[in-house]
Amino acid sequence: HKFIVGLTGGIGSGKTTVSDMFNQHGITIVDADLVAREVVAPESTGLKAIVSHFGERVLQADGQLDRAKLRIEIFDQPEQREWLNNLLHPMIRQLMFSQIEQAQSAYVILVAPLLFENELDKLVNSTLAVDISPQLQVSRTSSRDNVEPEQVQKIIASQISRELRLEKANKIIENTGDFDYLRQAVAKLHQEYLRQAQVTQG
Ligand code: ATP
Repeated sequence: HKFIVGLTGGIGSGKTTVSDMFNQHGITIVDADLVAREVVAPESTGLKAIVSHFGERVLQADGQLDRAKLRIEIFDQPEQREWLNNLLHPMIRQLMFSQIEQAQSAYVILVAPLLFENELDKLVNSTLAVDISPQLQVSRTSSRDNVEPEQVQKIIASQISRELRLEKANKIIENTGDFDYLRQAVAKLHQEYLRQAQVTQG
C-alpha cells in the first residue's frame, strides 16, 4: 500500500502552493475537492442520483450541478444533508483511493481542506497542516479572489479552529515567510516522507 500524506490548512493558507512544490519533487497530488467535483460531473452516477432525489431544479441549464441550488435544498434540512453525505462520501473515498493506488510516486499527497472535519486523517499515514495567521488568511485570500474580508472570515469560522488543527496535525508547515523559505521547508519534509514511505512500504 501507498504511503499517504494528508495535507490540510484553512482557506488561503497555501495548500495549493505547498502541494505544487511537492509536485515539483515528482510527488503525485490527489485533490479531494477535485474528486468531489468529479463524482457529480455530468453523466456521473452521483449526479443522476442527486437529480432523481432533488429534481431537475438542482441542475444548471448546461446540465452541470447547480451547487448553490443544492446548498439551498440541504440548508436547515439535516436529513437531506445526511442523505447527500451518505451518497457522496463513499463515492469520493473510493475515487480518491483509486487515484492514490494508481499513483507511481514514492508517496502521495492527499490535499483536503476539510481533512480533519471529514475524518480523512484516519485514512492517511501522516498529516501535514499549512499554518498562517487568520489575518494573513484574510489578506491573501481576499487579494487572490477579490472577495470581501468578511466573506473570508465566515469561511474561517466554518472550518476547524487553528488550535485544533495544529494539535491534530503530525507536522506543521509554517507559511508566513517567502516562497523560497517555503520551498526549503517542503524539500526537507519531502526527504523525511521519502524515508518514512520506504520504512512503511518495506
Ligand atoms: P484555498 O483554501 O482557498 O484553496 P490554499 O490553501 O490552496 O487556498 P493558496 O491558493 O496556495 O492557498 O494560497 C493563497 C494565496 O496566497 C495565493 O494567492 C498564493 O499565491 C498566496 N501565497 C501562498 N503562500 C505565500 C507566501 N509564502 N507568500 C506570499 N503569498 C503566498
